[in-house]
Amino acid sequence: MVGLVGAFFDFDRTLIAENSAASWVRREVREGRLGRRQAAQAGLWFAAYHLGFADLHSAFAKGASSIRGQAESDMAGRTRRWFEEEIRATLLPDAVDAVEEHRRRGHHLVLLTSSSPYVAEPAAELLGLDGYLCTRFAVDGDGLFTGELVLPICYHEGKVTHAREYASARGVDLERSYFYTDSFSDLPMLLAVGVPRVVNPDPRLRREARRRGWEVLTWAPGARAGGESERGARAGS
Ligand SMILES: [Mg+2]
Repeated sequence: MVGLVGAFFDFDRTLIAENSAASWVRREVREGRLGRRQAAQAGLWFAAYHLGFADLHSAFAKGASSIRGQAESDMAGRTRRWFEEEIRATLLPDAVDAVEEHRRRGHHLVLLTSSSPYVAEPAAELLGLDGYLCTRFAVDGDGLFTGELVLPICYHEGKVTHAREYASARGVDLERSYFYTDSFSDLPMLLAVGVPRVVNPDPRLRREARRRGWEVLTWAPGARAGGESERGARAGS
């Protein structure tokens, strides 16, 4: 049986211009739910992440324990408002074009992000994707966060685990599938698909792409029909 071709997309700094977690932290500080000190720690961590050196496991574990006892419905509501007010507008026009091109070609469209479902779900809805894979915080029978993560988190090798499980359930052939990302931490997933697509890479991924001879796509904020790659090719060939 010939499987479906999948087009998998990272979210932060791939489909949107910035890191949504950084935007969330700024909002939490503005609204008085997060102290300056915690925000400064988060800022250092985001910088390390952009350079491709951060360990998301410990950051996520801290995040999970910090929301223990809160209602999931409350988090989902607050996150959706933030998404509508601050994230929606940062979607990169070239990313939208790439999604539409894959849709036109009948590909199965999946968001593959380390973000939570409270970001992934509205993003997948906004783009009309077929599915989303993300990192989940465990919730108890009363709808409250337990302080634990659902493992594996959707990061690094964990993205491959989530994607393989999803692909085998939906009949998606990873060998013929695409994956778009900006992040060196996504190298395992780039190697798991037939068509790796490097977009606006962090410094480590840029070096890796050069070493492997992968083309590098540049998706500029607010510049539809830019999207020329460094070698002049267009996404979705
Ligand atoms: Mg990213």
